[in-house]
Amino acid sequence: MQTRRSTRVSQSVKVTTEAQADIDAPRPAKRLKTAAAVKEIAHSDALATNSAASSSRQEPKRQRKTKAKPEEPKPEDFPARAESLWKVGVHVSAAGGVENAVPNAAKLGANSFALFLKSQRKWTSPALTEHSIKAFKARLESFGYSPAHVLPHGSYLINLGNPDPEKREKSYECFLDDLQRCELLGLELYNFHPGSTVGQATRSESIALISASLNRAHKATQSVVTVLENMAGAGNIIGATFEDLGDIVRGVEDKTRVGVCLDTCHLFAAGYDIRTKEGWQKTMDDFDAQVGLPYLRGMHLNDSKALLASKRDRHENIGMGHLGLAAFHHILTDTRLHGLPLTLETPSFEVEDVWRKEVEVLNRLSALTAPEGQAVGWAQEMAEEVRTAVQYASSGKDAKEKGKRTVKKRGRRDVDDEEEEEEGHECDH
Ligand SMILES: [Zn+2]
Ligand SMILES: [Zn+2]
Repeated sequence: MQTRRSTRVSQSVKVTTEAQADIDAPRPAKRLKTAAAVKEIAHSDALATNSAASSSRQEPKRQRKTKAKPEEPKPEDFPARAESLWKVGVHVSAAGGVENAVPNAAKLGANSFALFLKSQRKWTSPALTEHSIKAFKARLESFGYSPAHVLPHGSYLINLGNPDPEKREKSYECFLDDLQRCELLGLELYNFHPGSTVGQATRSESIALISASLNRAHKATQSVVTVLENMAGAGNIIGATFEDLGDIVRGVEDKTRVGVCLDTCHLFAAGYDIRTKEGWQKTMDDFDAQVGLPYLRGMHLNDSKALLASKRDRHENIGMGHLGLAAFHHILTDTRLHGLPLTLETPSFEVEDVWRKEVEVLNRLSALTAPEGQAVGWAQEMAEEVRTAVQYASSGKDAKEKGKRTVKKRGRRDVDDEEEEEEGHECDH
């Protein structure tokens, strides 16, 4: 578990050891879910702060120093973001508090972002604090992000298709907790992996269980839209085909509360060849027929290290994998994707430059109106820019050390595949 959690850390923007400890080490607090409960926690925090202050009155100066609040990030200190109807963004770190995801996205020039709302590898996490909720909402507004452009990613542990009632209930509790976090933060969308049969049920049985869990969760919450992610499709995983996704959607009673997020790497690994413009159109037509285009609520933009129909989920930097950058030109000139969060989940090598370059290149690509043949040539040149950023990031002294660790972890991930699949999950995203 340690290894896999660390793999995620390698994709974080600026993660300090201390901050990571914050998000990954839940304190033994009660899991409280309502706004009132959050206030209660904030109140007890305030009490603790007061008593700490009174007990240290003999050393007022020192106390003030350690309690100094970090300065609130100012939007004007951040680079201007590209103006585009295609909302290209990044899955950013929320280490130290969900509110930190906002400046982490802004400094990359991201026009949308994804984040984890709690530790993605633990069943329970401390409740959101009132401070975090307020700061997150205030920063969304001051940095100019609409909640429609934020697509939180659910915990990897959740498997709503598990036929074991106890395990499924545990998943449901974790899922519901995530949805409640979304609503506390004023978010509209929540992306999750549909689940797995774990080899103990038929696909249609698992699919019915997933739909039933969604119906139950929709009744227990107000408005958040549960967004199913398409998967690469190893083993018993549900959701690699549009048919699976369509079947889950058909079982959902409130159709306004369900959507789909398409991951380009997962599409390709599952056998949807989106490398050509015709292939992309055909894939969209197929999606429309099996699920329905209005259900498309977001995308994950990832290139693929693995081959077409390999069922292997291996994300690669944009333009450096088997999809190639030209594939993203079809996507980023398709007006059906206007206004949807389109987030990167590519390797970052623990520096910001790679993601910043990928965002910049994708924005330039979306503005390219050249005929396809010419666009392909330009895309190849742009892909070189990403390659250079990746080479630079992985050749620095610091990055070299981190890179070594990353390689080790990736090797370990292959070993983990089977184990993860048993849990219903095949990848980090
Ligand atoms: Zn993936
Ligand atoms: Zn995912």
